[in-house]
Amino acid sequence: PSMTTAEIRSAFLSFFEERGCKLYPSSSLVPDDPSLLLANAGMNQFKEYYQGKKTMREIGATSCQKCVRTNDIDIIGSDGRHASFFEMLGNFSFGGVSKEQACAWALELSTQVFKLPIERLYFTVFTEDDEAFEIWRKLGVAEDHISRLGEDDNFWAAGPTGPCGPCSEIYFDQGEEVGCGSPDCHPGCDCDRFLEFWNLVFTQYDRQEDGSMPELPHRNLDTGMGLERMAAIMQHKSSFYDGDLMRGLIALGEEISGVSYVADDYDGPSRSLRIIADHARSVDFMISDGILPGNEGRGYVLRRLLRRAVFHGRLIGIEGAFLGRFIDAVNEAMGDAYPELLKNDALVKGIVDAEEERFSGTLDTGRVYLDEALGGLADGAVLDGATAFKLHDTFGFPIDLTVEIAEGAGHAVDIDGFNREMEAQRERARANVKGDAWGSFNDVWTELSDSVSATEFAGYEDEELEGAKV
Ligand code: ATP
Ligand code: MG
Ligand code: MG
Ligand code: MG
Repeated sequence: PSMTTAEIRSAFLSFFEERGCKLYPSSSLVPDDPSLLLANAGMNQFKEYYQGKKTMREIGATSCQKCVRTNDIDIIGSDGRHASFFEMLGNFSFGGVSKEQACAWALELSTQVFKLPIERLYFTVFTEDDEAFEIWRKLGVAEDHISRLGEDDNFWAAGPTGPCGPCSEIYFDQGEEVGCGSPDCHPGCDCDRFLEFWNLVFTQYDRQEDGSMPELPHRNLDTGMGLERMAAIMQHKSSFYDGDLMRGLIALGEEISGVSYVADDYDGPSRSLRIIADHARSVDFMISDGILPGNEGRGYVLRRLLRRAVFHGRLIGIEGAFLGRFIDAVNEAMGDAYPELLKNDALVKGIVDAEEERFSGTLDTGRVYLDEALGGLADGAVLDGATAFKLHDTFGFPIDLTVEIAEGAGHAVDIDGFNREMEAQRERARANVKGDAWGSFNDVWTELSDSVSATEFAGYEDEELEGAKV
């Protein structure tokens, strides 16, 4: 059967409510937790339950959580399954639901409610988790559909410290024609064939600053199912950009740019259409939750997403402001489920328009300068660091934007040279505290590239953002 995104959302939540889990609304994207930049999983709002600081009367909880993941920013648009903003359906328990029960429910929902054929489902467990392996086997899963994956895939942690534990993931086999085509393709492969749609985390440890992992007060359960991914499966689409929720945003991009969307084009203009559609959702939800564009922390993530969307609009030939129309389209598609979007509509559009205008100006002037520089290069020659630095310093071009444009024209960029110029500028700024020439320059990209290492991006968030392509 085919199900809409809204139907899947409500089927999931009712399933767990009927089994005694209490329904919680999504928390804000701004977490009530200083160790976390943005809400990135359903369990965020339940952290204190895991830690035993709070207790719940019911056996468990269920929710549909708004998530933004910065670690995926790089790959957005280049595959059919990663978004920067997505909804995570989940069920949670803090000692009230056993591992067997959790797996049984996941299998029941997948095969009885969503009616996915069990032959197309694959399961992974953590290398050392024999218990989970046995559970799936006893539930009737064929042994050759269960595999073991190591820490990277199957050990979950909320962050550098805090609740963590082994995972078991459920994958849907989209068929050979969808993926990399390699005979070695397997659940956990980077391609889209085996689509991970559900992750069951058996959160049983609480990692400390010193790396030790004492048991949490209870054996906890934290599961997350990607709504967009399940929608794609239920709608027989190998990419969620072709599902009911995103298709309208892609179509809007086609209409404004005149570019036609090609589902399996992952490098060209269709990648830009996906990036714009995806980033528009993040921008809308982030501003609605009170985040403003800025130079550090979540404001920086927002600004980066917003400007990247504008940049990709230019890449596919859109002239003039366009992001506001995407905000309208997101609101139309999602305002029923998220009334905060409608409530904050005017605020969001005002901010988006102002940012877009400001960025478009520098982008256009910088682009002329860059195109001239590239035009003067021999075929395949490297763009020098001084020019890349001037683009950064005078026109507010982030280095990764310069690299992306230069690569498109067949030129690499001298990154070492660029870094030397940056360092020299810092020296000059230090020598000249008033910094007239340097201090007057206030484009955000310069400030933010400096602030990334200096401020809130300590720990894993820093790694996630570093190297993210514009
Ligand atoms: P992947 O390996 O595909 O990057 P993940 O293992 O990082 O996914 P989890 O942390 O296990 O994802 O999150 C639980 C579920 O949330 C996933 O099984 C998936 O359905 C969904 N999900 C995770 N990241 C994204 C994303 N960037 N876009 C859309 N859905 C996502
Ligand atoms: Mg991931
Ligand atoms: Mg995974
Ligand atoms: Mg996972």
